[in-house]
Amino acid sequence: MIAVAIDGPAGAGKSTIARRAALELGFIYVDTGALYRAVGLACIKNGIDPSDAPKVVSILPKTDISIVFFNGEQHVLLNDTDVSDDIRTEKASMTASLVSQIPQVRDFLLDLQRNFSKTENVIMDGRDIGTVVLPNAQVKIFLTASPEVRAKRRVLQLKEKGEYADYDTVLEDIVKRDYNDSHRETAPLKAAENAVVIDTSNLTLDQTAEKIITVIKENIV
Ligand code: C5P
Repeated sequence: MIAVAIDGPAGAGKSTIARRAALELGFIYVDTGALYRAVGLACIKNGIDPSDAPKVVSILPKTDISIVFFNGEQHVLLNDTDVSDDIRTEKASMTASLVSQIPQVRDFLLDLQRNFSKTENVIMDGRDIGTVVLPNAQVKIFLTASPEVRAKRRVLQLKEKGEYADYDTVLEDIVKRDYNDSHRETAPLKAAENAVVIDTSNLTLDQTAEKIITVIKENIV
Protein backbone atom coordinates (compact mmCIF):
# COMPACT_ATOMS: atom_id res chain seq x y z
CA MET A 1 0.00 0.00 0.00
CA ILE A 2 1.18 3.54 -0.71
CA ALA A 3 0.58 6.41 1.69
CA VAL A 4 1.05 10.09 0.96
CA ALA A 5 0.95 12.49 3.92
CA ILE A 6 0.14 16.14 3.30
CA ASP A 7 0.40 18.42 6.30
CA GLY A 8 0.28 22.15 6.77
CA PRO A 9 -1.68 25.03 8.28
CA ALA A 10 -5.30 25.89 7.51
CA GLY A 11 -5.84 27.43 4.09
CA ALA A 12 -2.58 26.34 2.46
CA GLY A 13 -4.62 24.53 -0.19
CA LYS A 14 -4.14 21.01 1.19
CA SER A 15 -7.62 19.65 0.59
CA THR A 16 -8.06 20.93 -2.97
CA ILE A 17 -4.63 19.70 -3.97
CA ALA A 18 -4.90 16.37 -2.16
CA ARG A 19 -8.30 15.70 -3.74
CA ARG A 20 -6.93 16.43 -7.22
CA ALA A 21 -3.83 14.32 -6.73
CA ALA A 22 -5.90 11.42 -5.38
CA LEU A 23 -8.17 11.55 -8.41
CA GLU A 24 -5.22 11.58 -10.80
CA LEU A 25 -3.44 8.71 -9.02
CA GLY A 26 -6.53 6.64 -8.24
CA PHE A 27 -5.94 6.84 -4.47
CA ILE A 28 -8.55 7.55 -1.81
CA TYR A 29 -8.38 10.99 -0.19
CA VAL A 30 -8.88 11.28 3.55
CA ASP A 31 -9.37 14.72 5.10
CA THR A 32 -8.55 14.21 8.78
CA GLY A 33 -9.52 17.74 9.84
CA ALA A 34 -13.12 16.64 9.30
CA LEU A 35 -12.76 14.20 12.19
CA TYR A 36 -11.63 16.91 14.63
CA ARG A 37 -14.45 19.07 13.33
CA ALA A 38 -16.91 16.24 14.05
CA VAL A 39 -15.66 16.06 17.66
CA GLY A 40 -16.04 19.85 17.80
CA LEU A 41 -19.58 19.58 16.49
CA ALA A 42 -20.38 16.93 19.10
CA CYS A 43 -19.32 19.46 21.77
CA ILE A 44 -21.48 22.19 20.24
CA LYS A 45 -24.48 19.82 20.10
CA ASN A 46 -23.96 18.75 23.72
CA GLY A 47 -23.41 22.33 24.94
CA ILE A 48 -19.86 21.52 26.05
CA ASP A 49 -17.07 24.09 26.32
CA PRO A 50 -14.37 22.75 23.93
CA SER A 51 -11.60 24.02 26.20
CA ASP A 52 -12.95 22.00 29.16
CA ALA A 53 -10.88 18.86 28.50
CA PRO A 54 -12.48 16.53 31.10
CA LYS A 55 -15.97 17.37 29.79
CA VAL A 56 -14.90 16.83 26.18
CA VAL A 57 -13.28 13.50 27.09
CA SER A 58 -16.44 12.44 28.93
CA ILE A 59 -18.54 12.51 25.76
CA LEU A 60 -16.08 10.48 23.64
CA PRO A 61 -17.47 7.05 24.64
CA LYS A 62 -20.88 8.01 23.27
CA THR A 63 -19.47 9.78 20.22
CA ASP A 64 -19.32 7.54 17.19
CA ILE A 65 -17.43 9.03 14.27
CA SER A 66 -16.90 7.31 10.94
CA ILE A 67 -15.98 8.11 7.37
CA VAL A 68 -17.79 6.76 4.33
CA PHE A 69 -17.19 7.45 0.65
CA PHE A 70 -19.96 8.36 -1.79
CA ASN A 71 -18.69 8.53 -5.38
CA GLY A 72 -15.16 8.89 -4.06
CA GLU A 73 -16.12 11.87 -1.86
CA GLN A 74 -15.55 11.59 1.87
CA HIS A 75 -18.56 11.98 4.16
CA VAL A 76 -18.31 12.15 7.93
CA LEU A 77 -20.91 10.52 10.11
CA LEU A 78 -21.46 11.59 13.70
CA ASN A 79 -23.59 9.02 15.50
CA ASP A 80 -24.83 7.84 12.09
CA THR A 81 -25.87 11.32 10.89
CA ASP A 82 -24.06 12.80 7.89
CA VAL A 83 -22.53 16.03 9.25
CA SER A 84 -20.27 16.78 6.27
CA ASP A 85 -21.87 20.21 5.74
CA ASP A 86 -22.47 21.09 9.41
CA ILE A 87 -18.75 20.80 10.23
CA ARG A 88 -17.78 23.53 7.75
CA THR A 89 -18.80 26.59 9.80
CA GLU A 90 -16.24 28.99 11.33
CA LYS A 91 -17.55 28.01 14.77
CA ALA A 92 -16.86 24.33 14.06
CA SER A 93 -13.33 25.29 12.87
CA MET A 94 -12.48 27.09 16.08
CA THR A 95 -14.03 24.35 18.21
CA ALA A 96 -12.04 21.71 16.28
CA SER A 97 -8.85 23.65 16.84
CA LEU A 98 -9.52 23.64 20.61
CA VAL A 99 -10.53 19.97 21.00
CA SER A 100 -7.57 18.88 18.86
CA GLN A 101 -5.27 20.00 21.68
CA ILE A 102 -6.63 17.29 23.97
CA PRO A 103 -4.41 14.18 23.81
CA GLN A 104 -7.35 11.80 24.44
CA VAL A 105 -9.19 13.27 21.45
CA ARG A 106 -6.14 12.69 19.24
CA ASP A 107 -5.85 9.10 20.53
CA PHE A 108 -9.54 8.54 19.97
CA LEU A 109 -9.14 9.39 16.26
CA LEU A 110 -5.81 7.69 15.63
CA ASP A 111 -6.87 4.15 14.62
CA LEU A 112 -9.68 5.43 12.47
CA GLN A 113 -7.09 7.39 10.45
CA ARG A 114 -4.43 4.65 10.40
CA ASN A 115 -6.80 1.90 9.32
CA PHE A 116 -7.37 3.47 5.90
CA SER A 117 -3.69 3.10 5.02
CA LYS A 118 -3.79 -0.65 5.73
CA THR A 119 -6.21 -1.48 2.94
CA GLU A 120 -6.03 1.41 0.47
CA ASN A 121 -3.54 3.59 -1.35
CA VAL A 122 -4.23 6.84 0.41
CA ILE A 123 -3.52 10.55 0.35
CA MET A 124 -4.24 11.88 3.81
CA ASP A 125 -4.13 15.50 4.83
CA GLY A 126 -3.94 17.05 8.27
CA ARG A 127 -1.44 18.49 10.72
CA ASP A 128 0.39 15.44 12.07
CA ILE A 129 0.02 12.83 9.34
CA GLY A 130 3.72 12.61 8.40
CA THR A 131 4.89 12.94 12.00
CA VAL A 132 2.40 10.82 14.00
CA VAL A 133 -0.42 9.15 12.07
CA LEU A 134 1.56 7.69 9.15
CA PRO A 135 5.24 8.07 10.07
CA ASN A 136 6.14 5.47 7.44
CA ALA A 137 4.35 7.24 4.59
CA GLN A 138 6.36 6.91 1.36
CA VAL A 139 5.76 10.57 0.51
CA LYS A 140 5.49 13.46 2.96
CA ILE A 141 4.63 16.96 1.89
CA PHE A 142 4.34 20.08 4.01
CA LEU A 143 2.24 22.76 2.29
CA THR A 144 2.35 26.25 3.62
CA ALA A 145 1.55 29.87 2.65
CA SER A 146 1.60 33.23 4.42
CA PRO A 147 -1.36 33.90 6.78
CA GLU A 148 -2.39 36.89 4.62
CA VAL A 149 -2.55 34.84 1.44
CA ARG A 150 -4.46 32.09 3.22
CA ALA A 151 -6.97 34.60 4.63
CA LYS A 152 -7.51 36.12 1.18
CA ARG A 153 -8.13 32.67 -0.31
CA ARG A 154 -10.62 31.82 2.44
CA VAL A 155 -12.60 35.05 1.95
CA LEU A 156 -12.77 34.33 -1.78
CA GLN A 157 -13.82 30.74 -1.19
CA LEU A 158 -16.67 31.88 1.09
CA LYS A 159 -17.67 34.55 -1.43
CA GLU A 160 -17.98 31.88 -4.12
CA LYS A 161 -20.37 30.06 -1.81
CA GLY A 162 -22.36 33.28 -1.45
CA GLU A 163 -21.16 33.94 2.11
CA TYR A 164 -19.67 37.19 3.30
CA ALA A 165 -16.58 37.12 5.49
CA ASP A 166 -14.58 40.00 6.87
CA TYR A 167 -10.89 39.70 5.86
CA ASP A 168 -9.53 40.92 9.23
CA THR A 169 -11.68 38.48 11.20
CA VAL A 170 -10.68 35.58 8.96
CA LEU A 171 -7.00 36.54 9.26
CA GLU A 172 -7.31 36.76 13.04
CA ASP A 173 -8.91 33.28 13.14
CA ILE A 174 -6.15 31.84 10.97
CA VAL A 175 -3.42 33.30 13.15
CA LYS A 176 -5.19 31.98 16.27
CA ARG A 177 -5.59 28.50 14.81
CA ASP A 178 -1.96 28.44 13.61
CA TYR A 179 -0.86 29.32 17.11
CA ASN A 180 -3.07 26.64 18.71
CA ASP A 181 -1.98 24.00 16.20
CA SER A 182 1.73 24.65 16.43
CA HIS A 183 1.96 25.21 20.19
CA ARG A 184 -0.02 22.25 21.51
CA GLU A 185 1.98 19.64 23.40
CA THR A 186 0.64 16.59 21.60
CA ALA A 187 1.37 16.23 17.89
CA PRO A 188 1.94 19.93 17.10
CA LEU A 189 1.83 21.15 13.53
CA LYS A 190 5.31 20.84 12.10
CA ALA A 191 6.97 19.49 8.99
CA ALA A 192 8.21 15.90 9.27
CA GLU A 193 11.99 15.66 9.03
CA ASN A 194 11.88 14.11 5.57
CA ALA A 195 8.97 16.18 4.22
CA VAL A 196 9.16 18.16 1.01
CA VAL A 197 8.20 21.72 2.03
CA ILE A 198 6.24 23.74 -0.54
CA ASP A 199 5.27 27.38 -0.01
CA THR A 200 2.17 28.07 -2.11
CA SER A 201 1.97 31.84 -1.44
CA ASN A 202 3.04 32.68 -4.98
CA LEU A 203 1.72 29.60 -6.75
CA THR A 204 -1.65 29.05 -8.37
CA LEU A 205 -3.64 25.94 -7.51
CA ASP A 206 -2.70 24.41 -10.88
CA GLN A 207 0.99 25.07 -10.30
CA THR A 208 0.83 23.61 -6.81
CA ALA A 209 -1.10 20.55 -7.95
CA GLU A 210 1.40 19.94 -10.75
CA LYS A 211 4.33 20.25 -8.37
CA ILE A 212 2.84 17.89 -5.85
CA ILE A 213 1.77 15.25 -8.34
CA THR A 214 5.34 15.31 -9.71
CA VAL A 215 6.81 14.89 -6.19
CA ILE A 216 4.45 11.97 -5.50
CA LYS A 217 5.15 10.21 -8.80
CA GLU A 218 8.91 10.61 -8.33
CA ASN A 219 8.70 9.00 -4.91
CA ILE A 220 6.41 6.06 -5.52
CA VAL A 221 8.12 4.43 -8.49
O1 C5P B 1 -7.97 20.89 8.30
P1 C5P B 1 -9.09 21.58 9.05
O2 C5P B 1 -8.99 23.05 9.05
O3 C5P B 1 -10.43 21.07 8.65
O4 C5P B 1 -8.87 21.10 10.58
C1 C5P B 1 -9.65 21.59 11.62
C2 C5P B 1 -8.81 21.59 12.90
O5 C5P B 1 -8.51 20.24 13.26
C3 C5P B 1 -7.45 22.26 12.77
O6 C5P B 1 -7.45 23.60 13.16
C4 C5P B 1 -6.55 21.47 13.69
O7 C5P B 1 -6.58 22.04 14.98
C5 C5P B 1 -7.22 20.13 13.81
N1 C5P B 1 -6.48 19.07 13.13
C6 C5P B 1 -5.48 18.45 13.81
N2 C5P B 1 -4.82 17.39 13.25
C7 C5P B 1 -5.14 16.95 12.02
C8 C5P B 1 -6.17 17.61 11.28
C9 C5P B 1 -6.80 18.68 11.86
O8 C5P B 1 -5.17 18.83 14.93
N3 C5P B 1 -4.52 15.90 11.52
